[in-house]
Amino acid sequence: MASDSKTEDASTRTSLTVHAKEHAEEHGRVPFSTLDLSEKTIKGIEDMGFETMTRIQERTIPPLLAGKDVLGAAKTGSGKTLAFLIPSVELLYKMKFLPRNGTGVIIISPTRELALQIFSVAKELMKHHSQTLGILMGGASRHAETQKLEKGVNLLVATPGRLLDHLNSTKGFVYHNLKALVIDEADRIMEIGFERQMTQIIKFLPNESRQSMLFSATQTTQVTDLARISLRPNPMFIDVEQKSDASTNITLSQGYVVCPSDRRFLLLFTFLKKNMKKKIIVFFSTCRSVQYYAALLNYIDIPVLELHGSLKQAKRTSTFFEFTNASHGTLLSTDVAARGLDIPAVDWIIQFDPPDDHKAYIHRVGRTARAGKSGNSLLFLLESELGFLRFLRDARVPLNEFTFPPERIANVQSQLEKLLKENFHLYDAAKKAYQSYLRAYSTATLKKVFDVHQLDLTKVGRAFGFSVPPAVDIDFGGKRKREKDDDGAVPARKKK
Ligand code: ADP
Ligand code: MG
Repeated sequence: MASDSKTEDASTRTSLTVHAKEHAEEHGRVPFSTLDLSEKTIKGIEDMGFETMTRIQERTIPPLLAGKDVLGAAKTGSGKTLAFLIPSVELLYKMKFLPRNGTGVIIISPTRELALQIFSVAKELMKHHSQTLGILMGGASRHAETQKLEKGVNLLVATPGRLLDHLNSTKGFVYHNLKALVIDEADRIMEIGFERQMTQIIKFLPNESRQSMLFSATQTTQVTDLARISLRPNPMFIDVEQKSDASTNITLSQGYVVCPSDRRFLLLFTFLKKNMKKKIIVFFSTCRSVQYYAALLNYIDIPVLELHGSLKQAKRTSTFFEFTNASHGTLLSTDVAARGLDIPAVDWIIQFDPPDDHKAYIHRVGRTARAGKSGNSLLFLLESELGFLRFLRDARVPLNEFTFPPERIANVQSQLEKLLKENFHLYDAAKKAYQSYLRAYSTATLKKVFDVHQLDLTKVGRAFGFSVPPAVDIDFGGKRKREKDDDGAVPARKKK
């Protein structure tokens, strides 16, 4: 786990340095009061406790207030939500939107959790305004949404699928007065494969007098494609990334640890046990792994919460808010479940299973050190996966090696194996998790780095608690594309 020359413990090595100068650069010094905003909006911002704008806010809010179309790119955690919400709310206010005028602004977000998050920020910002707001998302009651739409929702937050549904079939949905369309996490929307829905949605919406705002963490060609179909001619492209050297926040201290398969769980266990007073998110590649490790850790008295695509929406929402409001605790999650969420004050992001690529890495660590706050991240890597560091280096992600002295790792392996033999429920969950881990691994995008043939299955099995790993039926050729939607769990292969 650790090379011999290094004996420092991760928690001492990661003592945080706050770079005051860079900090100031990251966080602009221009107060919101310099903008020409309504009294009601100014009060809303004050209530939220913000005085000065972040860089992306400083650069995008003025042109957006002037009615320009903007494509704004800035890394996760830089304050994009208010960058589009403030101009949106001002627009509705200036045009004196009433419920009967219907929807004036639509904000599209790739995931339900993110939609909820935007909705709650909008609610705070609009506290002193009289305009109405609402949310449409998969998993919620369509009937209740229809009723709200019929009453008139001025600012609407929605996920693409459900929005299209209502555009198609809800008669009382008044959207012909639409003045602005916002697309948040445009990169992610395209990545998840919402391209067709987006094209259809844009066809429905009035476009002559409509302003568009696209926001994204990364500039990809797909985002440019989306910009082409949604923005009017001559939009402004604002990218605050260029000035900064790193693609992740500077107050984030990032490290990796080289850990053999059979020690992975022991290290995680030791880490979580030592940091019970901290707020931690642990990322896994599949739903099944989240389910199993959550059941296991809770069983052995390390309380954890779980967030993944196979949970009902109501459960996902309540877990998300529970974790958000908790002063400390551990959340196990898959990628999609956590995408774009703003969970305040997370101390550690642990990538237990590797991300699919450097972009996924950046999004995961984007859950901490947001808007100038400090945070830590730790990436677990096998020796065979070290090639991944090159991709991170190319993406300008600064990473240190962390080491954990072997004598500090709790050796609970034999208890774990015994537990699995005695508890069928856990055994079964472990088996499914093990199989889904291998399936996800065999379909990784970076095949050379995450090469399933390099895995020692006996050792991999140990991390799940098996002394002898269960059989797997996997196409190790990995022709199928890794399933990115929702849970990362690849559906079981059809028998031939
Ligand atoms: P992004 O969408 O770019 O990932 P968010 O809009 O979610 O970022 O904002 C990240 C965090 O920064 C949130 O906790 C938010 O409350 C905070 N934040 C936003 N604007 C400001 C500001 N002007 N000053 C201080 N903190 C801010
Ligand atoms: Mg955001």
